[in-house]
Parts: sequence; C-alpha cells; structure tokens
Amino acid sequence: MHPIAQPRRRQLLQAAALGVAVLSTGCASVSTAARPRVVVVGGGWGGLGAVRGLLATAAADVTLVEPNEAFMSCPLSAHFIAGHQPATDFQRSYSRVDQLGARRVRERVLEIDRTSKMVVTATQRLPYDFLVLSPGVDYMEDGIQGYAEARAQLPVGFRAFEQMAVRQQVDEFLAKGGDFVISAPKPPYRCPPAPYERAFLIAEQMKQRGTKGKIILIDANPNPMPPAIAQPILKGMKGLYANQIEYLTDTSISAVDMGKRQLVTSSGDVPFAHANLILPMRAPALIRQAGLGERWANIRLPSFQSQVDDRIYVIGDSQGTPLPKSGHVAFGSGQRVAEAITERIAGKSPVVSTGAVDLPLGICWANVTHKEAININVSGTVVAGEPPKLKFTVDAEANARSGAAAVSWGNGMWKAMLG
Ligand SMILES: Cc1cc2nc3c(=O)[nH]c(=O)nc-3n(C[C@H](O)[C@H](O)[C@H](O)COP(=O)(O)OP(=O)(O)OC[C@H]3O[C@@H](n4cnc5c(N)ncnc54)[C@H](O)[C@@H]3O)c2cc1C
Repeated sequence: MHPIAQPRRRQLLQAAALGVAVLSTGCASVSTAARPRVVVVGGGWGGLGAVRGLLATAAADVTLVEPNEAFMSCPLSAHFIAGHQPATDFQRSYSRVDQLGARRVRERVLEIDRTSKMVVTATQRLPYDFLVLSPGVDYMEDGIQGYAEARAQLPVGFRAFEQMAVRQQVDEFLAKGGDFVISAPKPPYRCPPAPYERAFLIAEQMKQRGTKGKIILIDANPNPMPPAIAQPILKGMKGLYANQIEYLTDTSISAVDMGKRQLVTSSGDVPFAHANLILPMRAPALIRQAGLGERWANIRLPSFQSQVDDRIYVIGDSQGTPLPKSGHVAFGSGQRVAEAITERIAGKSPVVSTGAVDLPLGICWANVTHKEAININVSGTVVAGEPPKLKFTVDAEANARSGAAAVSWGNGMWKAMLG
C-alpha cells in the first residue's frame, strides 16, 4: 500500500494565501489553478512596469486590461503638440508584451468585484489572485461651469492620444494668432511642470513663425509648480518669452462661455480665441467604486498595497501619497509590486523593515525650448506608517545637456516598457 503523500506545508500556505483550492488525491497535492492569476489594469507607465516585471519571473498568468490598441507617451509629447515631431515618435505597439505571454484584453474595466475577486469589463469577468491598478487620472470638470458642455472643444491633452486634439488647436493658433489660454490647476495633478513646458514650446514656435497674439497662462498657484522648479521656470519665461506669454498667478477659473469665447476668472473675464484648460485631477471612478479611496486611492508605502485590501496594489498617478505623479515613479512602482507579488507567490514573507526604505525615483523634464530642458530628480524614503520624505534636485536653468538627456531617457523608458 502506498503511503498517502501529504501536501507540503509551504504549498499549503502558498495556496491558502492565494485562495487556491488544494486537493489531496491520495498520491500528490493538485492545485485547481495552474498558476496564480495577476490582472493588471492600465497599459500605461505603471501598468507596463508591473507587466514587464511579472513576465520576467514567469510566476503568474498575467492579463493586461487596456482599451487602447497602442501606447502613447505623455512625457516628451509637448514636442508633438508644438509641431516639432510626429505623433508616431511617442507611440509604441503592445506586441512585445503579447509575445512575452501576457493575455491582453482590449477593453475598459467597468467594475472591480472585490468579494468574488473579479475584474468586470463589458464582455468578460476576469478572476484574479492579485490585482494591480494603474488607470491614471480623470479630470474634475465640476469646478468650471459650462465645461462639460464644451468638453469636445476644450481637450486637456494630459492622457494618451488626447494630444492629437490639442495639436489641432495649436496649429490653428500658430497660423491665425489671437489669444491662447493655457491653465494650470492646483496640485496634486499629473506632471506639475507640464503646463509651463507646453506654453514654452508653443511660444517658441510663435517666435519662429511670427504668430501675432499671445499665450495667457492662467495659474491657480502663486508660482510655477512644483515649488522646487519655480525659479528656473520663471527665468525661462521672462528671459525668452516676455513678449509671447502673459502670466496670471493666483487665478482660478469658475466658468467658460464658448458662445462669447470667454472665461470667468478670479482676476476678471478673459476672452480667448483658443483655450487649453488643464483641469484639476483625481483617480478614475473605478477606484471609488471599489471602495479604495475618494479623490485618490489610499495605499500603504512602501508596499503600494491598498489600505483596505492587501491583494490589490495601486500604483502610478491613481495613488494618493505625496510621491510625484510621474511616469518614472509609476514604472518603478510597477516593477516593485511585480517583485513583491512574485515573492508572495513563492510563499516568502514580506521583509518588514523598521528603518527608512528607499522609494522609487522620480525623473522629470521640463523643456523650455525644443532643445533645452530643466531636469528634476526626486528621491525619497519612507518609514512604514509615517509620511514619506522627498528630496528634489533641480537644474538651476534650462540647458542643452538636460534637453538631450530627456530624449535618451524617453527612449530608454519606452524600450523597457515595450521594447
Ligand atoms: C505633458 C506631460 C508631460 C510629462 N512628463 C513627464 C516626465 O518628464 N517624466 C515623468 O516621469 N512623467 C511625466 N509625465 C507624467 C506621466 O505621464 C504620468 O505620471 C504617468 O503616465 C502615470 O502612469 P499611470 O500608469 O498612472 O497612468 P497612464 O500612463 O496614464 O496609464 C493609464 C492607463 O490606464 C488605462 N485605463 C484607464 N482607465 C481604465 C479602465 N477603466 N480600464 C482599463 N484601462 C484603463 C488608460 O487607457 C491608460 O493607458 C508627464 C505627463 C504629461 C501629461
């Protein structure tokens, strides 16, 4: 008679951790699921960091849910918006993650059912053992009366592929002139230096093409954001674009009238020919629907686990810590959670550190001209349960070295994501 083999303790613990049924067949332990299932929502910077990390270890079945057929970068896309480079320079196909074995579902997630551990799209229910959420940002339209009705004419262009509609407006403005309003909201929002960079690259083109008119930069803040970059941004604005950019600070926008082409602001009415209103931001509704947070998802650092569900990791711009809303941080966080999930699958207990732990680094670029940029590096540490400590290192002024470094950084990141 054969002795009945007992499932190994580690397998049982692992299975219990995953909620996977283990059957004793009399000769071996058999798991009903071949490999744990990880669903990643969002094929942007954070989601791709997680997907590439998970595919590298081959410890799980990976499903990426992303409605777009291709990836388009927001970082560096100001060069497209201002007319320097074609859109294709900033786009990449998802074919590499398909080849590496991710299952890709080209749909939008409509609901997360945490009780049954399912991600719901219009046509599918996708079970998960671990869930990584990186759906980016939504715009908060409520604060500006009349915006919702005018949405199609006022593209924000801070999410993939929305850049096309902004480029159309910029082309029209550069050809015809007039007043072009660009606004910057109060933080937290995606890539705080980006509204200024956009204004600069358009202003550079105005100079080159002799466009008659001006950019009115309406800032809800007293100075350019983030504070560490205010001086080099103001230096660029005053030194290069004093005749092209009028800078209105501490000014909030409360209404838009597309009939009169006029904004109601706290500094008076502002007429415009074209407007690119960069709205305040928050995490997409999915995060609230799943009970993971209100404006942003509530997570624990350094693990990026949801405060209410430790099978769910929220990374990228949807999470609500003081970490910068940057693609570099999002990608690095994705890689980290891939590592943590792989370790959990292997049954390893998380390392609990009582001291400060390094956080994913942030690297951001603000171009002041097509060739010259300001580099911002953000490093940080966190002691579990305390707010993170961040350190900003910023170029004193825009320079060609940082302009070139921005281009090679972008190429390197896109390669790591989809090359
Ligand atoms: C103009 C500009 C310049 C920038 N420059 C820099 C820079 O120099 N350096 C830097 O590090 N960062 C920069 N950023 C910031 C960077 O783009 C973001 O921080 C980064 O994209 C955040 O990654 P994410 O994964 O959170 O979101 P995203 O990259 O936006 O990805 C979110 C993905 O989720 C998908 N999605 C949304 N909802 C759903 C759903 N319900 N179901 C399925 N999928 C969904 C979307 O289609 C999208 O593909 C810049 C941003 C802008 C706008």
